[in-house]
Amino acid sequence: MWGIPRFRSTLCATYQGYGTADLGCVAYECTERRGFHLALSVIVEILDPETGDNLPDGEPGEVVVTVMEPLYPLIRFGTGDLGMMLTDPCSCGRPARRLAGIFGRTADGVKVRGLFLYPHQIEALEDRIPEIRFCQAVVTTSDFRDVLTLKVDSVDGIDPDALKGKVAREAKACLRLTSAVEIVTADSFGDNKRKVVDLRNWE
Ligand SMILES: [Zn+2]
Repeated sequence: MWGIPRFRSTLCATYQGYGTADLGCVAYECTERRGFHLALSVIVEILDPETGDNLPDGEPGEVVVTVMEPLYPLIRFGTGDLGMMLTDPCSCGRPARRLAGIFGRTADGVKVRGLFLYPHQIEALEDRIPEIRFCQAVVTTSDFRDVLTLKVDSVDGIDPDALKGKVAREAKACLRLTSAVEIVTADSFGDNKRKVVDLRNWE
């Protein structure tokens, strides 16, 4: 039986959970706060939102959950949430695999040259390059090819050419996409503060 002290100690060691009304608890944070350990009762897969293929660990995709609950089983329930599995073991010692977190909704992603591009990836780029004040990814087409342009509002007093090179290199490394980089002023974004803007004409 669970006594109050044991219950409390468990509560104290758990900071955030991830779940839905249908699924119950899917994953939970431990004291290390380095991702969310999967609950023992669930099977979590990360799938390509378009093809439904399983994605390797470390790649973002839709969190799809199976719960083998006898009274209310759910097989491959698509959450619409965007997540990614971590591969390194947690220093807390729990063997349960971990979700890196929930980065947004899969519907917010756009496919560029066959790869999904999500708003959280542009936020990560901003975090990696302190000279960036705001960055927006704009997708267009030229000669039937997708073109990715990163529009960057930078902090004052930087060398624009050096920053363009740095942003293009980091984008290639973390988005795996080649991009053109434009240094722009803050007012050029107007009211559109979205991280990913798709201007392709699908007609
Ligand atoms: Zn842990």
